Order: sequence, then structure tokens, then C-alpha cells
Amino acid sequence: SLSDRLTTTFKNLRGKGRLSEADVDQTIREIRRALLDADVALPVVRAFTGSVRERALSEEVSQALNPGQQIVKIVNAELVGILGGQTRRIAFAKRPPTVIMLAGLQGAGKTTLAGKLSHWLKQEGHRPMLVAADLQRPNAVNQLQIVGERAGAYVYAPEPGNGVGDPVQVATDAMDVAKSKLHDVVIVDTAGRLGIDEELMQQARDIRDAVQPDEILFVIDAMIGQDAVATANAFNEGVDFSGVVLSKLDGDSRGGAALSVAQVTGKPIMFASTGESMTDFELFHPDRMADRILDMGDILTLIEQAERTFDEKETERLAKKVESGEDFDLNDFLTQMASLKKMGSLKKMLGMMPGMSEHKEQLESFDEREVDRIEAIVRSMTPQERANPKLLNGSRRQRIARGAGTTVTQVNQLMERFGQAQKMMRQMRNGGGMPGMGGGRS
Ligand code: GDP
Ligand code: MG
Repeated sequence: SLSDRLTTTFKNLRGKGRLSEADVDQTIREIRRALLDADVALPVVRAFTGSVRERALSEEVSQALNPGQQIVKIVNAELVGILGGQTRRIAFAKRPPTVIMLAGLQGAGKTTLAGKLSHWLKQEGHRPMLVAADLQRPNAVNQLQIVGERAGAYVYAPEPGNGVGDPVQVATDAMDVAKSKLHDVVIVDTAGRLGIDEELMQQARDIRDAVQPDEILFVIDAMIGQDAVATANAFNEGVDFSGVVLSKLDGDSRGGAALSVAQVTGKPIMFASTGESMTDFELFHPDRMADRILDMGDILTLIEQAERTFDEKETERLAKKVESGEDFDLNDFLTQMASLKKMGSLKKMLGMMPGMSEHKEQLESFDEREVDRIEAIVRSMTPQERANPKLLNGSRRQRIARGAGTTVTQVNQLMERFGQAQKMMRQMRNGGGMPGMGGGRS
């Protein structure tokens, strides 16, 4: 597996201080193979590894990780970024009904999704209605009716026995029905063909123009493999969809199509369809998908451990330094900033957990931007300046402010606060203890 291969790579890299081109290229070769194994389309693999390589070579060297681990961390961050960072939710219309149109190839899973989506929406307190605007296949209307029944959602379909109807007319009529029956969400199921088909794309556009959807969801089979790029491009140009649903993620596919579609269209993946039952449906999680594509959950755990161990050691080292009478300098401060920034991501994580809303105020008081601002200032100093803040005369402060994109006043404020913190540490060392903390020598 990739994890095994990377672990071997890491062993060879261990002990090196910085990311050399050779290290980067060796790890990138493994990543490239993993992406191809996951069926990510070739041009996407090329573009992706290219940008990872560039970032890896320009990134500051981590003290906590060896070069291989650091590259994997970059790869993971880039993957999650392209896959959409945070999950995007449905954009509901200000004035209902919200119209969601489904598009995609035949067999992609649109009709099945129509059922799952309405089932999920009902649980969220909505009154969805399904519209059978696929009149292409003889059985399509009936299939949607069965799906609607399982989901407990009303299905609007053309009267049977009138020959082949006009899907645009059906969709238009459905909008009036939805309004009169007070449905707040309308899901329009459309026809797909086996390949890209201009006539069909025109039909989808006509339906789109008739119902003015708030969301157009492009449904794509996770098993589609290398064809993902051409299909996604065709539908993106054809109907300009607003979001993507990845279906059949319960299969063997490692989900490379997710990366292909996200990279070439830049559109968010919103949901994942994971089976044939109504409940096999979930919000799409970019981080989980990144793990699946690279198949490297173990590696990421190792990386987290390495970083945590480093933090602990660093805290210990600083404690010793303070005890032994040495001053805590701005280089130490920078290392501590890195741990603080991890608290920033911790805050995001905590914020997503149920029950955390009670502690919102405490979470809110941690301002990540402030941490970024301070870090930018300290990073604009030379190591000598960080070790000896007394060097910071007016012109140096001006240079630092410019480098950090801030003002001299802000630099002065930071230095003043830092001076106070240093003083407090000296007092603690001299037996003063920290007020209100207890446990000190008193
Ligand atoms: P449509 O042509 O786009 O409407 O596709 P359908 O909804 O009719 O789905 C085509 C086939 O794929 C059907 O046999 C579905 O049961 C199956 N299918 C749809 N979604 C999933 C899924 O998430 N997992 C699995 N295993 N099968 C699915
Ligand atoms: Mg269908």
C-alpha cells in the first residue's frame, strides 16, 4: 500500500534537515502512483503533483516532521483544499420553493438520489416534491414513483397514456403544483444518456431555463474513472451546474473521480451516495475523501503523533530554559505560535461538535487572525533580532512592519507585550509565581 511505501521512503529520508528536490521528487513519485491507482485522471494528476512539488520546495522546513512526512502533509492539505475544504450546504431560496435540478449520465444515480435527497430533506423538516422530467426511458417515471413512495415524498408526473410528453412542460407545470401544494423544495429528475449528447444537453438547458433552479446538482458515478474529466467538463459547459454529488461510493472505487471533477470544474462536491437504500446518503467530507484517495490514514496518524511529540518536547525544553535562567526569546515565541495555531484548527473542530455551542464565547475569544498577525511580524525579523530584541531600532522596526504588511505601531505593541511576558517569566523564576494560579512557592 501507499502507507507502506511511504514509510520506507521516510526511513531513507530520516535525519535530513531540509526538503531537497530529490526528497520531494521521490515522495511525489509515490503520491503520483497512488493517485493513478485511485483512478484520478492523468492530466489532473500532473497538475496536482506539479503544484504540490512547487509548494513543497518553497515551504519552510518543519522541525517536527521529516521531509517525507512534511510532503505528505502538504499533499493532504492540497487534496482537502481542492475537494472543497469545508462542506457546502444547499443554498435554499429566500422565497420558496427551492428548486434543485439533477443532471448527469444515464445510470449515474440521479433517480436514486432524488429519493435519498427528499428523504434527507424531510428529516430536516422540509416538504419536498419530486418531478419526473425524465420522459426518455419508458420506465423512468415509474421508477421515480417507487422511489418517491419509499421516501414518503409526493411525486409530480405527467398523466400516463399521452404518448411521449414534453419534459419542459412537465417541469413548468410542476412549479405551479409545488406552489399550490406548499412544497418548499422541488427536486427535478432529468433524463441522461449513456454518452455526452448535445440534444440531451439542450433539453437539460431548456428545463433549467424553465424552472430557474437554485441548485443544479451534477451526479457522477464514483466508478467512472478516467472519463470523469470529459463528462464533468461537458456538463459544466452544458448546464453550468452548481454542485456535485458523487454516487456509488459504496463500491471499490477509491474515489479518484472526486479529485478529477473538483479540479477541472472548481465546483464543490456536496453529497455522497453510498448504496441503494434511502439512508445511504451523506454530506460529502473532503478530509475523509482525501484519506480514501491516498489510502494513507495510518501515515496521517503518524504525522500527527510526530507533531504532538515535538510540541511536548518543545514545551519541556522551554520550561527548562526558563528554569535555568535563560531568557525566553522570540525564536521560542515563534515555536509556541505554531502550537497556538494548531489550537485554531482545534477551535474549528470543537465548534463542529454537538453541545459546543454552550462554550461558544470561550471559543470565540481565541482570535486566529491575531495569531497570524503576530506570527507575520516575528517572521519578518532575522533570527538574530528574534534572539536579541534589543537590536530592534526604529529603522529595523520599519523594515519589519513593511515585511509583515503592518504598521510600526503594531510592531511596537507586540514588542511591549513580549517585554512584559519576559519580565513576568523572570518574576516567576525568582519565586513570585503567577498571580491566582496557586501552586507557586509562596
Ligand atoms: P439515473 O439513470 O441517473 O437515474 O440512475 P439510477 O438512479 O437509476 O441508478 C442506476 C443504478 O445504480 C440503479 O441500479 C441504482 O440502484 C444504482 N445506484 C444508484 N446509486 C447508487 C449507490 O450510491 N450505490 C450503489 N451501489 N448503487 C447505486
Ligand atoms: Mg433516472
